[in-house]
Amino acid sequence: MHILDTLVIGAGPAGIGTALALDVVDDLRYGVMDRGRIGQTFADWPEHQRFLTPSFPANGYGATDLNSIHPLTSPAYSLGVDYPTGKQYATYLRSVAKIFEIPVVNEVEVTAVTRGEDDIFVIGTTQQTLRARTVVWAGGEFHQKDLPAVPGGDLLTHSAQREAWQKRADHAVIVGGYESGIDIACHHIAQGAAKVTVVDGSSPWEDPQSSDPSFELAPRTRMRLRNAQASGKLRLHSSHAAKITRAGDSYVIELDDGQKLKTSAPPIAATGFGPGLGPVSGLFEHREDGWPLVDENDESTIFEGLFLSGAALRHGSKHFCFIYKFRQRYAQIAHVIGERLGKDTENLGAWREAGMWAEDIGACGANCAC
Ligand SMILES: Cc1cc2nc3c(=O)[nH]c(=O)nc-3n(C[C@H](O)[C@H](O)[C@H](O)COP(=O)(O)OP(=O)(O)OC[C@H]3O[C@@H](n4cnc5c(N)ncnc54)[C@H](O)[C@@H]3O)c2cc1C
Repeated sequence: MHILDTLVIGAGPAGIGTALALDVVDDLRYGVMDRGRIGQTFADWPEHQRFLTPSFPANGYGATDLNSIHPLTSPAYSLGVDYPTGKQYATYLRSVAKIFEIPVVNEVEVTAVTRGEDDIFVIGTTQQTLRARTVVWAGGEFHQKDLPAVPGGDLLTHSAQREAWQKRADHAVIVGGYESGIDIACHHIAQGAAKVTVVDGSSPWEDPQSSDPSFELAPRTRMRLRNAQASGKLRLHSSHAAKITRAGDSYVIELDDGQKLKTSAPPIAATGFGPGLGPVSGLFEHREDGWPLVDENDESTIFEGLFLSGAALRHGSKHFCFIYKFRQRYAQIAHVIGERLGKDTENLGAWREAGMWAEDIGACGANCAC
């Protein structure tokens, strides 16, 4: 049976971006597979959701567009917008894959990944069984929507579901006050909700303690938050939801400070996502916080040849959950795969020159001085 050097699972920014780096390794036989189409997650975003990281076509001056997945591309340039919607970004991903002729198989789901003879990975899919020397998991986290682990948590509508964005005339209650919570709160105020309450015991809306948007609200979100507060309709409540119940046509949200909130529309969970490892979940060790454990090359610590690309990437306290962060590792993965197979990886130097290759994890994450 034909053996690939690398199979990339998932055709989002992590999968297409890693494939673009693999593409410049000389004579590498690789392919990308997605259960949907390229950029499927973005195509599935609620229509009102936009990027919070700005795009700007500054590539020619050593500052590659924050949302770009290749040194020579810029979503700001090709889309003509600075904060793309999901659909717009899916268009960008599809056009990049087309221009660079990335081999992608659409609408085939990977259902199992095991290690067969001679350390070759055996990949079960909804169509055929594949074999590959190395595998890159880039399946994203969007399909693992986290709901709060409290009684009645399953009564909440997750912010990534389209229903969460439908108009609420009276009181919208949102559990979780980080990016997605403030985003959807601002949306409901703009849509005419009479009152919006965001509950979060960790008060993420307080003044920032660091310049890292993985831990603090992004500048655009803070600007929108100030406007929403000026409307007089937004209440930020520093408590956790402890229990959710139904009372007739209403929902009651009990908070851990003893207060109760009532709303007629399903409350919204803006509580993020899990690692979403799907069929490779058992092939990674897990950190204490539940996220996958990887070594300095973003490789599984128990299955050599299995790499992780994308927003689930964590190194110590560093979270690579934005495109401009996890794209720093595409070239590293391609370099390690190429070197091990004895291929020429010299052309990856262009990624380093564009500031899109962080070989040393320790160099990432410095705080801004002011
Ligand atoms: C609401 C939201 C807003 C965000 N906003 C920003 C932002 O403004 N800026 C930023 O930089 N980041 C943002 N992020 C974070 C991050 O960029 C996204 O999560 C991004 O989608 C991650 O890219 P990915 O390629 O890892 O995953 P995805 O884009 O989810 O791609 C994964 C792909 O894998 C496929 N797949 C999954 N399982 C399988 C399988 N078993 N077999 C085959 N295919 C499979 C899926 O169909 C999908 O196409 C945001 C995330 C969310 C959820």
